[in-house]
Amino acid sequence: MSTDGISHVTVLGAGNMGHGIAEVAALAGYDVTMRDIDEDAVADGYEGIEWSLGKLAESGRIDEPPADVLARIDTTVDLAAAVADTDVVIEAAPEQLAIKRDVFGDLDEHAPADAILATNTSSLSITAIAEAVADPGRVVGTHFFNPPVRMDLVEVVHGAETSAATAETAAALMESFGKTPIHVRKDVHGFVVNSVLGPFMQEPAWMVSTGEATVRGADATMVHERGYPMGPFELGDLTGIDIGYHVRREAGLPVAPLVAEKVDAGDLGRKTGRGYYEYGDDAAGADYTAADAGDFDWLRVEARMANEAAKLVGDDVATADAVDTGMRLGAGFPEGPCLRADRRGLDEVLAVLRDRHEATGEDRFAPADYLVELVEAGHTGVDAGRGFFAYDDDGDRVET
Ligand code: NAD
Repeated sequence: MSTDGISHVTVLGAGNMGHGIAEVAALAGYDVTMRDIDEDAVADGYEGIEWSLGKLAESGRIDEPPADVLARIDTTVDLAAAVADTDVVIEAAPEQLAIKRDVFGDLDEHAPADAILATNTSSLSITAIAEAVADPGRVVGTHFFNPPVRMDLVEVVHGAETSAATAETAAALMESFGKTPIHVRKDVHGFVVNSVLGPFMQEPAWMVSTGEATVRGADATMVHERGYPMGPFELGDLTGIDIGYHVRREAGLPVAPLVAEKVDAGDLGRKTGRGYYEYGDDAAGADYTAADAGDFDWLRVEARMANEAAKLVGDDVATADAVDTGMRLGAGFPEGPCLRADRRGLDEVLAVLRDRHEATGEDRFAPADYLVELVEAGHTGVDAGRGFFAYDDDGDRVET
């Protein structure tokens, strides 16, 4: 699928994500219209783009003068004008279903009937948003990561009714933006990256809640021994402890007591000056060091991430390749959870899960059917020549 016929991209919302997406599209050569609901928001977003382009030019990362890129960006507060002759709309309005549905209802009325309608939602159902449109086949998720200019990954999320042509064109468009798209073929909660990040952040919180781990021990081990770019608690403080909490609560998912305590106390992370660590002028922030590492059951966390990956692959949500690409590019993981589990041995990963499941009865340890199938078929990973992926005798990945 190509991007033939696409020259005009409209971005709705000029906030954090919207202005970044507009910049990415303009850098790729598209004519861009950026629309927000009031003039101040539009002006702030435009200034954000000017600032960012200036930085890119300073460091020699663009070969075009910023003014030429800016010349391709129009701004407006008028929705009908913003979409009248557009080819693609990318919506980056606030994360509330009612707002998104209103926006898509307006798009149904004002955008050309053949325009692709994309949403940057990170946690809402594409299928539910698409209900506001007469032809849900043209609605798709394009989930960018923050900041869009720097982050290479985009999850292309298929709603129940998204047409194959829409999804393929959206993926081609993301490639033309210089991004790496992965297909998320079913509209599951958390898509791929946040689904796998769930256990990375939640399991250590359960372990601290039950006295089996410490915040510093968990962060230090995951970073200094396992190579993750940031510890789970440091990441929670950065993104805001309330964000994951509310998403999980709204989805009816259990929340570790430690997380609930922090939210109840209003200790939400960096933004409130205190979360799992203390922040501010006199505070040390996420002050764990390599010396704190060691006494933390990281294999339990990685087994749960591999299990989550197995659910996604087994349910045809994403390929193992897409999961691993997503976690490397979207979360900065040093290697994907599927490759890492194949290296460890899927039989060992399964044993960890079964052991915890029997000991606790907790659903979160229930092994995925696909993981069980792989192990029962003898596909236990690199040593067996096959696991999530296939390997040659040297242990290098081969295509099947
Ligand atoms: P934001 O609050 O920074 O920006 C939202 C903007 O939308 C505001 O400027 C607001 O005035 C504007 N707006 C409100 N109603 C609108 C309407 N009807 N039409 C057009 N604009 C409207 O939010 P954000 O962080 O940019 O998030 C936007 C979307 O991107 C959300 O769906 C969010 O879940 C998703 N997302 C955010 C991140 C992130 O890290 N911030 C990452 C990935 C996806």
